Amino acid sequence: MPRSRRLCVLTNAPQNAFVINLGILYPGRVTVLDIRSQYHGPEVLNEYGSVVTMVTHRDALDTLDYSAVRTFAAGGGTVVSCLAEYARSLGLEITKSLVLDGSQMPAIRIRELSEVTQGFAVGDEVLWFGKVSGATYNDCNPNQYYQRQVLGLEGRPAVNVLGISTLNGGAVLMEERVGRGRIVAMDLLSLKEPFYDSWGSTNKYLFLGNAIGRSVRYGKHYPRKLPYDDFLEHMRELAARLPALTFAEEGPVSDGRPLGSLTVGNPDAPAFLFTNGIHGWEWEAGYGLLHLAELLASDPPPEGLSRDMFRVKVIPQLNPYGYDHDVRHNANGVDLNRNFDCGWAGYVGGDDVYQPWDFDYKGPYPASEPETQIAMRVVREMRPVCLLDFHTAHYIFCKPHRGDRRLMNSIHAEVKRRLKDRYLLQRPYSTEYCQANMDREVDWLQPPPHFIHWAAEAGVSAAVLIEMSGNRNLTQALVMNTDTTIEICLAAIKQCLKRARR
Ligand SMILES: [Zn+2]
Repeated sequence: MPRSRRLCVLTNAPQNAFVINLGILYPGRVTVLDIRSQYHGPEVLNEYGSVVTMVTHRDALDTLDYSAVRTFAAGGGTVVSCLAEYARSLGLEITKSLVLDGSQMPAIRIRELSEVTQGFAVGDEVLWFGKVSGATYNDCNPNQYYQRQVLGLEGRPAVNVLGISTLNGGAVLMEERVGRGRIVAMDLLSLKEPFYDSWGSTNKYLFLGNAIGRSVRYGKHYPRKLPYDDFLEHMRELAARLPALTFAEEGPVSDGRPLGSLTVGNPDAPAFLFTNGIHGWEWEAGYGLLHLAELLASDPPPEGLSRDMFRVKVIPQLNPYGYDHDVRHNANGVDLNRNFDCGWAGYVGGDDVYQPWDFDYKGPYPASEPETQIAMRVVREMRPVCLLDFHTAHYIFCKPHRGDRRLMNSIHAEVKRRLKDRYLLQRPYSTEYCQANMDREVDWLQPPPHFIHWAAEAGVSAAVLIEMSGNRNLTQALVMNTDTTIEICLAAIKQCLKRARR
């Protein structure tokens, strides 16, 4: 019998933000029991598929019936426990390590692979800490970090330490097989709720999600943001390793360097162009496109796809100057996504004196920039059925003024299906917590001189601008970002191929 999808939270703090946000991540599935007053014996827990425990105060530890939790796991359930009560159930105590001078940001170093660490490789380090100040934003008391660990797990073969602390080697992520089920333990208490640019807590729900809901399917962690020249080298190496993948230099850009692309598939099949980083500082989804190319060129490609069926070109960083300098513009100070020959003359930028390096400076004349010209040439040569142009702001699906609305709507619907109940985050510029769900959409009526509008006028049926979450300075969010990028691309490929077969 398949286990229930329902989830029971055992806590002494039902109003804790974590408990509330769990209800946003798994809507309609979460029941909260207050361990101080509500019975939570084995026969109660057996109604559920998973149990999450979170005890926020030492005094409440003894009110949690952890033997009932262990009985539940032994029967085949999945338990995710916060550290203190888990350590107590082993007869251990947690340690809390402080870094008050900011000399080091505490991280998890992945030590072992399992379903829980899906998306990471052994040795990967991902930031994992709380902040003493309690401030939400990184720029308030940015240098007061702490992290909790369990020490003394040596000689307990039942406990698999999946991740250790970069501060002291203590266990920060562990998995214990219990009968037919398991207990996964990690710190859910000291990490703040993740917001779009949080450092220590972006992945707070990721390992939990892997244990309960299989959050990560295609995501991949990259240890650091590579300089563009190294990024190009990485693309060349991928193509050298995977015969199905072709690396090309699409031409020199505004700073004189080559623009790299990767292509995979059948030249006679429906074509897809996936681009990222036309705004240079919006770089993260480019790593998703890189990994997508790798997956499509590997054997077998994902989800029953065959390379006969499609041709995919990715240009992961369309603006190398902006990428390396962490700015929006190219080397000439032009906002490339206002430079296309489509509604250009009538486009009015936001600044009073309109000149290079203004936020949305459109350039001296339409298609004045080499990056713009390359993008146009690639569209004319490939004649893609679908262009996805990735940006980062806050998960929005933006459709142009022209094109195949039904096709775009079907891609959008599949993206929403795929992303459901996977990731939780706070929207940038907002206090609202939500799933990374792509529910929001923009439907342009008048064309601004964006790439997608020009492409729609050039005959691309589904030219969509995708806003992801991002503008991060570090790489701690790349598993979520690469995962969702790849899901969105696969949704587009599947829906367009389905449409082509009709
Ligand atoms: Zn953008």
